[in-house]
Amino acid sequence: MSSRPGKTAPRLILDILTYDPRYEKRAGRNILTDPPSHYDPTKPADRAVPVKNCKHMFMTKHEQSILPKPGILPDQETLYKVSSFCQKCRYHLDLIVDFHDYGVRNAPCPNKDFPLHHFIYQEEDPNEQDVYLDHNIPKTFRFQCSAKQCPANLRISIRPPRLKEQYIRLMTDRTFLRRRLESAKRIDPDRTDHMMARPIDGLDFLSSYMKDSLNPQKGKTRIPLLNRKFLVTYGRDCDEMLTEFGFTREVENNGNGDEICWYIPRPPAESDPLAGDNLRVMVEDVIAELSVLISDRADSEKQGVRNTVILPQPSQAEIERALGCLDYNKRIMARAEAKRATEEEDHPYYAGLGALGDFSDELILFAYDRQVETDPRNAAYYFECLQDLAIGRKSPVLEEKVQILASQGQTNRKEVAKAYGYFGIDPLHSTHLTDEIIIGTFRARLQDISPTLEEETRNMLRIVGQARQSSAILQEASNAIETYAQALSWLDISANTPDEFVQTMFTVKTEENPASRDIAVKAVELIAQHRNSERLRSFLINGKMGPEMDIGEAYQILGIQDRVAAIDPTVLVTTLEVQKQIDSDNIPRLEQAYRLICKERFGDAEGGYGAAAPEEPIETHPLDTWPVGCQNIGNTCYLNSVLQFLFTIRPLREMVLNFDNYKQECTPEAIKDKIVGRRKPSIEVVKKAQEFVFELKKLFHMMIQAPSPSVRPEVKLAFLALVKDAQGDPPTKTSPSKGLGVICGMPVMGPMPNPSKADELESKLGDSSVIDGAAMTGLSAVNGSDTQITDGPGQDDSSDKKDNANPFKDNLYEEAIDLDAIDIVSEPTKPDPPSRPPPVPPRPKAALQDSVSTTVEYAARQQDAAEIMMNIFDLFGCAIKPMGTMEDGEQIDLIKELFYTNITYARTTNGTTTLKSDIQDHILTSPGDKDRHIYSALDDEFDIDDLDDPTTRDGAKSTKYEFIARLPPVLIINVRRAVYNAKEEKSFKNERHVALDDTLYLDRYLESTKSMTAAQLLETRKEQWEYKRQLRALQRRKAELEQTALEMSLSDVVECAADYITDLKTADEELLVDLDPLPIEPGLAEQMRIKAHNLRKDSSLLDEPIRQLEERIESHFDGLKDHPYRLHAIFIHRGTATGGHYWIYIHDFKENIWRKYNDERVTEVTDIKEIFTQEEKWPATSTGIVYVREEGKDALTEAVKRDPAKPPSGDVEMKDISDEFANAEVIDGVPA
Ligand SMILES: [Zn+2]
Ligand SMILES: [Zn+2]
Repeated sequence: MSSRPGKTAPRLILDILTYDPRYEKRAGRNILTDPPSHYDPTKPADRAVPVKNCKHMFMTKHEQSILPKPGILPDQETLYKVSSFCQKCRYHLDLIVDFHDYGVRNAPCPNKDFPLHHFIYQEEDPNEQDVYLDHNIPKTFRFQCSAKQCPANLRISIRPPRLKEQYIRLMTDRTFLRRRLESAKRIDPDRTDHMMARPIDGLDFLSSYMKDSLNPQKGKTRIPLLNRKFLVTYGRDCDEMLTEFGFTREVENNGNGDEICWYIPRPPAESDPLAGDNLRVMVEDVIAELSVLISDRADSEKQGVRNTVILPQPSQAEIERALGCLDYNKRIMARAEAKRATEEEDHPYYAGLGALGDFSDELILFAYDRQVETDPRNAAYYFECLQDLAIGRKSPVLEEKVQILASQGQTNRKEVAKAYGYFGIDPLHSTHLTDEIIIGTFRARLQDISPTLEEETRNMLRIVGQARQSSAILQEASNAIETYAQALSWLDISANTPDEFVQTMFTVKTEENPASRDIAVKAVELIAQHRNSERLRSFLINGKMGPEMDIGEAYQILGIQDRVAAIDPTVLVTTLEVQKQIDSDNIPRLEQAYRLICKERFGDAEGGYGAAAPEEPIETHPLDTWPVGCQNIGNTCYLNSVLQFLFTIRPLREMVLNFDNYKQECTPEAIKDKIVGRRKPSIEVVKKAQEFVFELKKLFHMMIQAPSPSVRPEVKLAFLALVKDAQGDPPTKTSPSKGLGVICGMPVMGPMPNPSKADELESKLGDSSVIDGAAMTGLSAVNGSDTQITDGPGQDDSSDKKDNANPFKDNLYEEAIDLDAIDIVSEPTKPDPPSRPPPVPPRPKAALQDSVSTTVEYAARQQDAAEIMMNIFDLFGCAIKPMGTMEDGEQIDLIKELFYTNITYARTTNGTTTLKSDIQDHILTSPGDKDRHIYSALDDEFDIDDLDDPTTRDGAKSTKYEFIARLPPVLIINVRRAVYNAKEEKSFKNERHVALDDTLYLDRYLESTKSMTAAQLLETRKEQWEYKRQLRALQRRKAELEQTALEMSLSDVVECAADYITDLKTADEELLVDLDPLPIEPGLAEQMRIKAHNLRKDSSLLDEPIRQLEERIESHFDGLKDHPYRLHAIFIHRGTATGGHYWIYIHDFKENIWRKYNDERVTEVTDIKEIFTQEEKWPATSTGIVYVREEGKDALTEAVKRDPAKPPSGDVEMKDISDEFANAEVIDGVPA
């Protein structure tokens, strides 16, 4: 809702009478349109009217006006126009009041409820505003009466004088006149009676010409230049002015040669007040201005003047009548008071209320009510105005109102300022903040404070809510949930959140704060009621979700009466779409009903929907030149990004399309030695994986052949790709729902970047909560049912815990490795604590009977693009046959060839180095604590680490570093965005920018390169490590000097302490009673100040060395360019650690363009900055970065691969097309 003050008609008129566009900049505000600044009683008031402003005396121009008739009220046909000009400054004012009613506005003020109009300035369009900088250009301001039923629409136009200063000078300045006489003598030497024109003549003659032009008469239209009076009065240097005023100049042959002559203006014959600015209006304006100028000349000059002054009529009464305030209710004042009132400016509080000092008390109250209603955010200020005026006017009526308001909780600015301050909001900025922002701030504060402070915090919010008259804020402050929207908001969910997850969030919220249980129940009740969900009702009663929707309910929801009549699939789709429009809050439920009916009718949960997708892309490209988009089938934007990426990797795509050639034979004998991700997959796992690849093949075919700009991935594909336990193991024995996070075949998830392995630092700090890193290694993502027993939600994490504790995890190819030693190298292995703090976000701990399944569903929601991709790699591994095996039996295949990096760990103890190898499907980096380059992020991963080694007796240190033994053609670098803060027990998103180059040189991370031997490269790396070590030391030192727990630097802390000591001493001296003397050393405070100064200096002295080291580190490998990789794709996430949206940018090397794949829309990125720079607020951030080897990039990637089928003609059924893509084998529905 907009919050904007207005002003009553009398106040507006007062402002019109003093508004002067010439001095607007000096005034600092437009007194017509900008609300007056809030009066601060401790400071002198701003002048309401800047000193220089003209106090206009407007005179009516009748020809241009449509004046109100006394005693006749406006009706819905009425339009008034008061056209006038100021007798002093000659500015023109047009005031148009339009009462035309276009609807409910049919009761113009003044009336019983609205004794005056209350006008609110309407924002003009910004183009028009720009010209306001020039005061010579007419300005128009539009106002609307704030009374809901009043049609009054007001336009105020202010135009500068027609007669510019230079024109007046041309006519009246004697220097010009003298010069004109000289030139007249030269031009027309035959005449001897030339006399200098008088200053008044130019004005007078011009006025005559103009008047003649309004009433043209024969013989009075043409003026020869050589006309005696004309020549000396205007000569030849007034041509510009005359032309501007509509005179035309002709050269005519009079028989004796050419003669120059002028014709007076030829304005339209009839005067039309609404015609706008035409020549007639201009002529009339000039005549009006000339009359002022002529009357201003000295009386002695006026002799013989033709245009004696006619007295114009003042406009003020007309303006007041037009605005309905000619005779409003004024207060009775003593004569002295009244005199003062006319001489002095009103108190600024009157302006604040949009009122005048002479208003009756009733009108003051009216003005107050209008202001509060139209500008509730400043209600506290208006209350203060009223409070003060009540006292100043000694008015019992106003006093009473003030008391009533105070008893209703209305507060004044001081209290409100305190309340805003409580939330860290500057009251000055509060008007610009929306209620939502304030509520958000309140909620954030609520999380930080102890429960004992909650009531106080709510009270503060209540004051703010009162002050702003905001019901949303008051509602929030009262902590009550009354509406569906509030219930959703309280549970942090949206209207699209399925019932299952409502239950999850209920559990999460009540776990966080058991005291909130009642309110949580209320929230779920409201949602159950709004959605008419039996399942949620059952959950409230039994603590368990009821059965899914039954088919009868489904028909009812879609409004289908006849359950036996035949239904055309496309009709059903239309029904669904229509219902979605009508009931957009219940889309998940409508879709569920739709699927249920489809399943019953067609044995297929998708029905005709797949073919009838209604999406229209924004850009259109010829189908055969542009990649297809993937429609979002339920928060699957991140899956879509992964699928689009995989599609562009040519060898992978070819493999999928020719899957039969790669398919793993599926017999117990054939897979008995198969190891994928260090696990032996069961037959079921392999079959499921093959089903996935098969589904992917169908999708790829569609992506190539679809006769449309986008395709719809099937739910089954999403299910297989997203649900890790798709092998068939139910996640828990007690879980009543099937699979993970799947509702009626739709994967349920709110994508978010998943917090990955806890940082080393965090582990050192004793934070034992380790965040799910399973998928980060990829190798452990597929939990073969025969190798792992899943028995609870914590299981995944405990296996990760081990991985994390062991820096040599997943060591597949050991060289010279002593296994025992490795275990010892690892950090002290402690047994997993029996119960661990909750991972992120906090998981429910079995508060409800089926909270276990809730937990599992919740976990499924947490998968991000990186995890999905790793899951898919494992599915591939299981689905395809090996090309060979590694030493430990792990399968070698195309996926490993394409994407896996071989990393070697080198560990050095007492001068002996041992090497071990491992494969990784990606490299994981951190964004760091400031924006930085990808090299810097990678450098950190490849830095040398000290290892605490408890085995070496002499306490010798072990170190380890890594190098890349083999680079894959396609290198995936994931960015760890979600960080878990153990102290606050919540995760947040690190939004630091990771700067990317189009080309990334990986030389420095290798063992050796063409130009560097292993020894040389290691030596170079060691130098950089040493620089980095020095840099860290300096940064630590800087942090010691700068950082304290008090959010001020150490030097400031010392300084403050010194001040405190000084204060103590002073207080001590001032005390009259003897106390125990405080043991303060003399001069201590002084010494501390010196110390503070030195600390500050020490800190700033570190800046230069830090900068130099940073520079050196950055440029250390500059020359190494043997292994260039080109940027191919970037996965992008926008949102928070708990949700958001994914898309991907993919480079087309062939066309040399970037495209943005945002679900069904694939668009060209026209401004490359979108990809390489980051917005400041709510930035979209990279979560995954893909580089491909420069050499062979064209064979590795291909962004466009299209062969669209002909669009279906009208008589071909939609079904046929999907059949074509179904590729022989049709799998119905979704695995149960
Ligand atoms: Zn004026
Ligand atoms: Zn009105």
